[in-house]
Amino acid sequence: MADGADGGPGAGAAGAAGGWAPVQPQERAMWCDERFNFQATFLQCLAKHVPNIYSAEMDPLLEKQEEMVQAAILYPLECYLFGEDPDIFLEKLQQSRTSQLCGKVFKGGETTYSCRDCAVDPTCVLCMDCFQNSIHKKHRYKMHSSTGGGFCDCGDTEAWKAGPLCTKHEPGASGSAKENSECQLNEEVMEHSRRVFPSVIKYIVDMLIWEEEKELPPELTIREKADSYYCVLFNDEHHSYDHVIFSLQRALGCELGEAQLHTTAIDKEGRRAVKAGHYASCQEAKEEIKRHSENVSQRPLHVEVLHADVMAHQKFALRLGSWLNKLMSYSSDFRQIFCQICLKEEAGSEKPCFISKLMLWDAKLHKGARKVLHELIFSSFFMEMEYKKLFAVEFVKYYKALQKEYISDDHDRVLSVTALSVQMFTVPTLARHLIEEQNVITTITETLLEVLPEYLDKNDKFNFQGYSQDKLNRVYAVIYDLRYVLVSKPTLWTDRLRERFLEGFVSFLRILTCMQGMEEIKRQIGQHIEVDPDWEAAIAIQMQLKNILLMFQEWCACDEELLLKAYSECHKAVMRCSTNGRSREKTVFHLCGHTLESRPYRVSADPVSIHLPLSRTLAGLHVRLSKTGTISRLHEFVSPEEFQVELLVEYPLRCLVLVAQVAAEMWRRNGLSLISQVFYYQDVKCREEMYDKDIIMLQIGASLMDPNQFLLLVLQRYELADAFKKLKPTKDQDLIKQCNVLIEEMLQILIYVVGERYVPGVSNVTKEDVIMREIIHLLCIEPMAHSAITKSLPENENNETGLENVIDKVATFKKPGVSGHGVYELKDECLKEFNMFFYHYTKTQHSKAEHTQKKRRKQENRDEALPPPPPPDFSPAFSNVVRILNCDVMMHILRIILQRAVELETHLWTEAMIQMVLHLLSLGLLEEKQQLQKSPEEEVTFDFYHKATRMGSSALNAVNVLMLLEKLKRVPQLEAQKDTVNWILQMFDTVKRLREKSSLTTIAATSGSEATKGDESTQDKEKAERKRKAEAARLHRQKIMAQMSALQRNFIETHKLLYENTLEAQGKEDAIMEEESMSSAIDYSKIALGPKRGPSVAEKEVLTCILCQEEQEVKLESAAMVLSACVQKSTALTQNRSRILELSGDTLDPLFMHPDLPCGTHTGSCGHVMHAACWQKYFEAMQLNFRQRLHVEQIFDLENGEYLCPLCKSLCNTVIPIVPLQAQKINSEDAEAVAQILSLARWLEIIIVRISGYSVKNAKGEKQNLPAFANKGMGNSALEFHSILSFGVQSSAKYSSSIKEMLILFATTIYRVGLKVAPNEADYRIPMMTWSTCAFTIQCIENLLETEGKPLFGSLQNRQHSGLKALVQFAAAQRTTSPQVLIQKHLIRLLGVLLPNFKVEDTPSLLEVDMFHILVGVVLSFPSLYWEDAVDLQPSSISSAYNHLYLFHLTTLAHITQIVVSSATESPTARSSDNSEEARSAQSFCREVCQYTSGCFSQDIPGWLVWDCVKKGIMPYLRCAALFFHYLLGISPPDELLQVSEEGQFKALCSYLCLPTNLFLLFQEYWDTVNPLLQRWCADPVVLSCLKGKSIAIRYPRKRNSLIELPEDYSCLLNQASQFRCPRSSDDEQKHPVLCLFCGAMLCSQNTCCQELVNGEELGACTSHALQCGAGVCMFLKIRECKVVLIEGKTRGCLYPAPYLDEYGETDPGLKRGNPLHLCRERYRKLHLLWQQHCIIEEIARSQETNQIFFGFNWQLL
Ligand SMILES: [Zn+2]
Ligand SMILES: [Zn+2]
Ligand SMILES: [Zn+2]
Ligand SMILES: [Zn+2]
Ligand SMILES: [Zn+2]
Ligand SMILES: [Zn+2]
Ligand SMILES: [Zn+2]
Repeated sequence: MADGADGGPGAGAAGAAGGWAPVQPQERAMWCDERFNFQATFLQCLAKHVPNIYSAEMDPLLEKQEEMVQAAILYPLECYLFGEDPDIFLEKLQQSRTSQLCGKVFKGGETTYSCRDCAVDPTCVLCMDCFQNSIHKKHRYKMHSSTGGGFCDCGDTEAWKAGPLCTKHEPGASGSAKENSECQLNEEVMEHSRRVFPSVIKYIVDMLIWEEEKELPPELTIREKADSYYCVLFNDEHHSYDHVIFSLQRALGCELGEAQLHTTAIDKEGRRAVKAGHYASCQEAKEEIKRHSENVSQRPLHVEVLHADVMAHQKFALRLGSWLNKLMSYSSDFRQIFCQICLKEEAGSEKPCFISKLMLWDAKLHKGARKVLHELIFSSFFMEMEYKKLFAVEFVKYYKALQKEYISDDHDRVLSVTALSVQMFTVPTLARHLIEEQNVITTITETLLEVLPEYLDKNDKFNFQGYSQDKLNRVYAVIYDLRYVLVSKPTLWTDRLRERFLEGFVSFLRILTCMQGMEEIKRQIGQHIEVDPDWEAAIAIQMQLKNILLMFQEWCACDEELLLKAYSECHKAVMRCSTNGRSREKTVFHLCGHTLESRPYRVSADPVSIHLPLSRTLAGLHVRLSKTGTISRLHEFVSPEEFQVELLVEYPLRCLVLVAQVAAEMWRRNGLSLISQVFYYQDVKCREEMYDKDIIMLQIGASLMDPNQFLLLVLQRYELADAFKKLKPTKDQDLIKQCNVLIEEMLQILIYVVGERYVPGVSNVTKEDVIMREIIHLLCIEPMAHSAITKSLPENENNETGLENVIDKVATFKKPGVSGHGVYELKDECLKEFNMFFYHYTKTQHSKAEHTQKKRRKQENRDEALPPPPPPDFSPAFSNVVRILNCDVMMHILRIILQRAVELETHLWTEAMIQMVLHLLSLGLLEEKQQLQKSPEEEVTFDFYHKATRMGSSALNAVNVLMLLEKLKRVPQLEAQKDTVNWILQMFDTVKRLREKSSLTTIAATSGSEATKGDESTQDKEKAERKRKAEAARLHRQKIMAQMSALQRNFIETHKLLYENTLEAQGKEDAIMEEESMSSAIDYSKIALGPKRGPSVAEKEVLTCILCQEEQEVKLESAAMVLSACVQKSTALTQNRSRILELSGDTLDPLFMHPDLPCGTHTGSCGHVMHAACWQKYFEAMQLNFRQRLHVEQIFDLENGEYLCPLCKSLCNTVIPIVPLQAQKINSEDAEAVAQILSLARWLEIIIVRISGYSVKNAKGEKQNLPAFANKGMGNSALEFHSILSFGVQSSAKYSSSIKEMLILFATTIYRVGLKVAPNEADYRIPMMTWSTCAFTIQCIENLLETEGKPLFGSLQNRQHSGLKALVQFAAAQRTTSPQVLIQKHLIRLLGVLLPNFKVEDTPSLLEVDMFHILVGVVLSFPSLYWEDAVDLQPSSISSAYNHLYLFHLTTLAHITQIVVSSATESPTARSSDNSEEARSAQSFCREVCQYTSGCFSQDIPGWLVWDCVKKGIMPYLRCAALFFHYLLGISPPDELLQVSEEGQFKALCSYLCLPTNLFLLFQEYWDTVNPLLQRWCADPVVLSCLKGKSIAIRYPRKRNSLIELPEDYSCLLNQASQFRCPRSSDDEQKHPVLCLFCGAMLCSQNTCCQELVNGEELGACTSHALQCGAGVCMFLKIRECKVVLIEGKTRGCLYPAPYLDEYGETDPGLKRGNPLHLCRERYRKLHLLWQQHCIIEEIARSQETNQIFFGFNWQLL
């Protein structure tokens, strides 16, 4: 098909590297010719080249295409445009580019930053670069993940109150001289641009909106049309990936891979040709695809058949678009010319301009095209303020059409042009302009009105039953636009602005009218409703509208005139909606001499709605009238006759009654939907514009109506009219209960109406006061975290709660520990603000707070009265509200309730009711007291005291409230209220005195202090009494405590071991104690090796099985006891993470450990003991139990022997048998006598003879290489095969069969897990693995103690101590379960490293082994040399003392040589004149080494340096050896090792291990024996190559691993992540960068691009990395989410909080809150320990057990 490449060698176009340059010089010249019509020429050129270039659509060679485009079209075009070489020209422009706007467009997931101090609104954001270079870095910033499509506001002066520019975008920042003048384009280029751009833009527009499938515009059709078509598939959001793949496979019969390829491309680009061919065949394919996709998902895929040329031109149009996009970034002139052309309207034509055309077409474009278009808008219009404004005008002009298109579009909002609204509407000047000139508020509200009618019911109210969530979400976008426009209040009002705003407001009221009373409900009687109606949509809209409603009110309040007009409009609207029920006849209601005439209505029987936005807006405007004082002019706008306050109160009151009835369970049959609505009604997300406003409306009613009438109305609506008449009510218990709840609810509302005054306008409080009060009441419940407080406070339009401004005034911050979070605690002085009946408390919060506060007062030995705090005064407009307290109806209510309590009509009252009555009484008295203190007595008309002390009736038995209170004190059920009653009685007294006093002196000067004096004596008395009682209680408590702790001690005594195991802290002392008890006698008792060896301390061990609780002493011959344990592979000590680990150990020979310690086998234990039999039973039971259950196998892998420790639930996979230590004691005089004969040389000879003897015996006939040693010099022919036995033997220990069984079981587990192979009890590698895990575990523990700075002995956790003890003893005993010949073979190979004469093939050189592993191996295998055919002997104590000594000395000598050789390349960093004995010995040793390495080893290294290296380097080895011999032999270590002291430690180690402190003396002492060894060690080729610098040997001491360094500031990590590029794919899609905390590798997680095939399984980047980096166990940080992930193997993992905290001591998983985060060192250290203690697996298991959510997660693909 590619027939076009006909150009031949052209005139060397710069861009065409491949030499493909079809442009003829004349062609270019033609463009330049002024006489030619550019447009015609341009189109001609395109017509000629484009179809050729894009001919291979199905399988394009992208690079080639691009090359051709450059050469054939773009290069000549640029040449013409710039008039010179494009590269040079653009380079020049680039130099001078100094745009002040950043304009970076965000991709989804990119981190954006906002500043809470300086951003005008939260939509103002910075990109990472700009933020890092801005002043906001030090402010209270927020980090968030972009949803994509936004753009960086750096440089926009309207977006920031301060610091609008980062240092990079500041003028002159680039250092160029021409600061302010951007490089001006010269006139010629401008001229050319004006000529070129229109044609280019027109072509792009024409092609993008081109709808013909088969034809091109005539000017592009220059040749015969070929029958060449494409079947093109388009992206949509309806069909899933799998649907599309499936449909394609079926319809086209293509391979899965191909279908996947197509689908991915479609998802990315928006469309793709899936078939090429003749028209008919493409048409057929189209029908097939449609048919198949329709079958799968009801809706067909969007498929079109396009002619190849059409496709080609559309493709090229996009290429031209991105070309323009690039050009825009170079010069402001380009942008302006571009914008001018885009905005130009054809004269006299009604047609929209280019840019509007594109906008209107947006929803029809495919994804790829939209992206190009939007980027172009960003890079041109949005970079030039003036044109941004013009663009916004166009945008608003077509706003309705655009939104409607969007609502029926099926792409995400980020892909819609409507998403650009936020960029324009949030700019304050632009918003103002759009309101004034384009009437944007009205436009938006009308759009809403036009898109919402489908939800209107017959009454013109919304009804969202059966709504589509997706569609409504799209409607919310419009609501959001309204919010954007209103986000910044104007400071300057013009008439036009006022007019337009009011017009918008009125239009908005029409929307509210449709909501007022929507979704009415009726109480269900008899039957339960069948389906819960949809309620979410209405509540969701309410939430969306909340801030908009508030903003409208705020805007209105800016201007007096406006406020009044808006109020009157709103009032009218409410009145229009308040018509229903008018037809009913009014009825009359009498109570205690007052009557109310009203139309009958019952919430329990008539329809009711909780949606009353109009009434609530009116209430909002009312308080603003009151606040500004404008209320005095209200009558000018709303006449008193029209006002009709009863009608205004009616609907909010009904709503509150509904809530009460729901609480009284009268609406049970209406289902959960109502419960949810009531919840949101009062929840923080909605309450400001629902519940709170209803309370305010009631306050308005109470202030404007006659108080008695008001209360009668309330009583009637609560359907409680009869409850307060003296009639005997019904006997129906349920009804009585219901009635009681209703009374409680009503009293509560009355308390709120009178007492809740913390609203600016209702009283004279500020917003700060309001927030402080909210916080105080939250903290009265309990101390809370910052985020918890934030969540409980309403957010304003800027997502701020105002918390930070006030929190420090009311609370103190308490820092968190290593876990948990920081909390705020209420300051004591704020406690007096506590109001038990705070209106935002839920029922639970109310009782919790009451409980907390009473408890606190009790602890402080104070009375438990919690009277209300004195409320602030009502503002004048509301001052009448208090009259309801002392009106007749109120007195009647109070009296009736109290009377019922006193008369013990138990079922007619509740304690809660009494509490509320008391609260109301308190409010009344406080009010009167405050008034009396403020004004002269005769002016105070508020006569609560008077009313309350008046008789209720003239009857004989009449009582007043005061008398009732006195009686109340004697009601036994109200004991708890006694303190409150006393408080009220005192208040009565106080008010009485105030009244009397002022009437006596007529001067109302004195206040509280004197008036309360009288009370004080009674108060004192009560105080004393209380104190006495408290003291008695304390003594009683003490006594009980003493008894308790005695019991407890007993318990601990009897369950001692159980206790020790759970209390690790105690372990420390215990561990020391057992050793110290024996430490008395002689000094050398603390030597572990050689003739001076001290006694073993073998305590009698009696352990308790955690399963059967029975005790048993551990003995060789008894049934086995076991420790639960977990064996795992580990890379915790590795020195080289780049080493590739073998995943399976089938062919691995683990005898020698590489000195890098790349991967070891760790055995850990939780320290819990069981009988082997009990454990086996437990394990089997669990297997049976869990086989059937789902998911459980994911917590632990039963096949691999996993189980949870029955006591502590740690994950275990085996048990360690507990083998008792065999106590040994030697007579040191005897032993020293042996030394005379048994020198190292002699000992070596003896074992060589023994080994040769075995060799001869075992390998009959085989030719054996007798060690050369045997023949050398010593010539003592007395030596023979049995000589070894002559220094003492004893018979081997006999283990019980059950211990043996466990020895085999555990050894097999180590082998299986450590090598990842199938279990095989007979494998020859089992002993090797046993020694290996023993050595490795000791090394891990030594490492851990060192990094934690703890002493070597005595500081181990109990679980580590008992685990290690059991492990070492097991390792010693394991030998007996293997064939001794096998052990001997391993021993010989091990010795081969030390005694090169033994050298068997493939023995590694000295530098290729870890010496401590050798030591453990040889010591544990050595007794096998004592084995005689039938008799199993073992060395006697004295023999083994020497064996251990010499074996240890040999390995030590070898290790010193290792250290010296490997530090040969060390160059001295400091001079030292140290000429100590050690230095001199070192020097002479080096001379020898130098000699043996033929000078490869440099002799110049000063002796002191060598000594220094050796002393430091050998430390870990000595420490490990000390641990090993201690746990093997049970000999107490010297006291110095129980402390941390470097010098003391070295000496003590040497003494314990029987070494001279000048280690080189060891060589001198054994010189004759060691000399030949040293010679051979040094001559090894590997050693020589290392010394020559050809290979690198490990240095000692090895480095201690730690988790990677993390930056202090989390945004640095985000920064790193933003630079992260996936190593495998180059697309710009969002990646999930994940950081390995072991090695610092950054991985591309959860993405198919980086999956790896391991053993035939697809593994995600993390999982496969973990296999290498952590032998399957690894720790990652998900950077974008700020979470740590722990994983193990392929199936398990868990999340863990990241070690980053915000300033409130809280973590922020998912960066939901976005506060600045800083590294918490202690928490990071905790993670480090989790790793080094090998507890990651345990943590995962624990988390999976408690947190079952992660079962669904496919860890494998992480
Ligand atoms: Zn930026
Ligand atoms: Zn910037
Ligand atoms: Zn700032
Ligand atoms: Zn047991
Ligand atoms: Zn346990
Ligand atoms: Zn790693
Ligand atoms: Zn990747």
